[in-house]
Amino acid sequence: DHVANQIAAGEVVQRPASVIKELLENSIDAGASHIQVVIKDAGKTLIQVVDDGRGMGLTDARMSFERHATSKIKTAEDLFSLKTKGFRGEALASIAAIAHVELKTKTEEEEVGTCIRIKGSTISSQDPCVNPKGTSICVKNLFYNIPARRNFLKSDAVESRHIIDEFQRVALAHPHINFSLHHNGSELFQLPDTNYRQRITNIFGGKTNEKLVPVNEDTEIVKISGFVGKPEFAKRSRGEQFFFVNDRFIKSPYLNHAVVAAFEGLLKDKAYPSYFLYLEVDPKSIDINIHPTKTEIKFDDEHSLYAMLRSAIKHSLGQFNV
Ligand code: ADP
Ligand code: MG
Repeated sequence: DHVANQIAAGEVVQRPASVIKELLENSIDAGASHIQVVIKDAGKTLIQVVDDGRGMGLTDARMSFERHATSKIKTAEDLFSLKTKGFRGEALASIAAIAHVELKTKTEEEEVGTCIRIKGSTISSQDPCVNPKGTSICVKNLFYNIPARRNFLKSDAVESRHIIDEFQRVALAHPHINFSLHHNGSELFQLPDTNYRQRITNIFGGKTNEKLVPVNEDTEIVKISGFVGKPEFAKRSRGEQFFFVNDRFIKSPYLNHAVVAAFEGLLKDKAYPSYFLYLEVDPKSIDINIHPTKTEIKFDDEHSLYAMLRSAIKHSLGQFNV
């Protein structure tokens, strides 16, 4: 039902960047190795995501716009051992409720693909189409039917900043996937598949590489890897600070504090360290489902995590004599 979809949409889709995030996560879940993002007018006019993932068959393609039509949870048990990013089955239904959407998709097995056009939750056409294996989704005129929302959007500069932030988070979490981002016809990012260190450098510029100190720690409850920026490169403003838990970007003031504590005595006043830290934990020991946009999670044992993170970083900083 359209109303439920519109309400859900308000939770899942706050701005164009939220659409980008959901579509990128779907492409990753579909096993894509190349993902292209094209936007116009900071995503207000057009957001297109093209992937070479497994695609969808005729029926699955239709089903994907139904609310709670997720192919990713089969049992309640699955909810606690999430390996995929999506699991609510709300994103596509929500997006289709508040935009004009065109989906083109094809699986390996099929000869021709299928193209679905949908507008305000109503499918207006489904036809066979030519498409390589994979999925292409075009989202046009976001919030066309909710003027209050549309008017609430910020300037193109602000909305495209949000898009770039989401894009970078996803790209940092998946260095082995090729990503590109084009805005109004110009290329903002072209990221070849590589390792973590090189992906960070490709995103933040040539000099980044020499600023990074590796952090590695493997314990019973967490595997920590990634990099912290050397103290002399700490910034006056927050910015390059990233936590990923099981390949998802998360925000955690608590863990941020652990990093800052590890830099104790090494930073000038009011300087923030950069960090790109990847934590792997048992999915059963976290709860990701506390926020619809999934950037906050709850850890079972956050005190131990804090202590381990701090000591791992201290150790690395000591080892690299910084
Ligand atoms: P969720 O990701 O939570 O399952 P979504 O609304 O984001 O819910 O997507 C619904 C379903 O549509 C997914 O479970 C998946 O089966 C299918 N789907 C969406 N995007 C893609 C894609 N890019 N490639 C293949 N299948 C997709
Ligand atoms: Mg999804």
